Amino acid sequence: MEPPLDRSTTWPYVDGEPGPFFYSRNAHPAGVEAERQLGELDGGEALLFASGMGATTAIVLGLLGPGSTVALAQDAYYGTGVLLSELERWGLRHVLYDQTGPPPAGADLVWIEAPSNPLLTMPDFAAAAAHPGLVVCDATAATPVRLRPLELGCDLVLHSATKYLAGHHDVLLGAVVAKRPEHAARLHELRTRTGIVAAPDAAWLLIRGLKTLEIRVARQTETATTLASRLGEHEAVRIVRYPGFGGLLSFDVADGELARRVETSTRLIVNATSLGGVTSTIETRHRWEGDRVPPGLLRLAVGLEPADELWQDLRQALENP
Ligand code: PLP
Repeated sequence: MEPPLDRSTTWPYVDGEPGPFFYSRNAHPAGVEAERQLGELDGGEALLFASGMGATTAIVLGLLGPGSTVALAQDAYYGTGVLLSELERWGLRHVLYDQTGPPPAGADLVWIEAPSNPLLTMPDFAAAAAHPGLVVCDATAATPVRLRPLELGCDLVLHSATKYLAGHHDVLLGAVVAKRPEHAARLHELRTRTGIVAAPDAAWLLIRGLKTLEIRVARQTETATTLASRLGEHEAVRIVRYPGFGGLLSFDVADGELARRVETSTRLIVNATSLGGVTSTIETRHRWEGDRVPPGLLRLAVGLEPADELWQDLRQALENP
């Protein structure tokens, strides 16, 4: 009923020749099964990587070269921009743009994020798809339950599967889903050569997580919708950002000092980074991202706790920080 977990790194040749599995840096059974399931969900060919950042690295190293330019959504996950800056010394360029409008001309690859973390903007998919460059959508926060970017003109989907796809804050994992087989083949080749592969245990946990993905996202959406509307009515809250689906939202209080007090005053909601698990987490993002985000911004990743209990916790933190 449940897939067996084969941790082998090597398998016997078949009649003296490599079979479908021969060395686990190339492929392993749990990885292939997880990729089959994720590929079906997103409508393309999926590949797992050691982390979301590993998957991002594979896309830019595998499909671009020195002198290539990436047009990056300015409010995309801050780590994506940090990685692209790191790769500048290898000749990769990037420019930031507002993803709610058209990408700049001349870019070889357009990188959008739906919705962006933590400002929760949605990209203009039609404008991105009309661009002649490759289009990658980081759909970590949306998940294929709510969004299938390959159907909206994107060439590749990126997931930090660490988040909603695996769903329990217990596995670091990334994935790319490609529309075109030649992109998948290129990324598979690069993954094998660089070794930024997912371990069998991680792939197995993804298979387990995917079983409850739809029901988790539905519940998180329902709870986040309730919390977004109650936060919007609270006098200590200046602005709430919520795209109307998913478990991720952010809201601002008056200043950074108050935000730090609020994040350390919750009792049920854990003051920790990351998102997408069954346990709710909250944190100020200014500590990581600096002036990209307002000092008073708190990012809340809604888990599976009852909405009323989460609201009571937020309310007492806002009122007695
Ligand atoms: N993309 C988004 C939207 C993220 O939130 C993250 C991590 O926070 C990543 C990519 C990177 O993923 P990972 O932490 O699995 O490397």
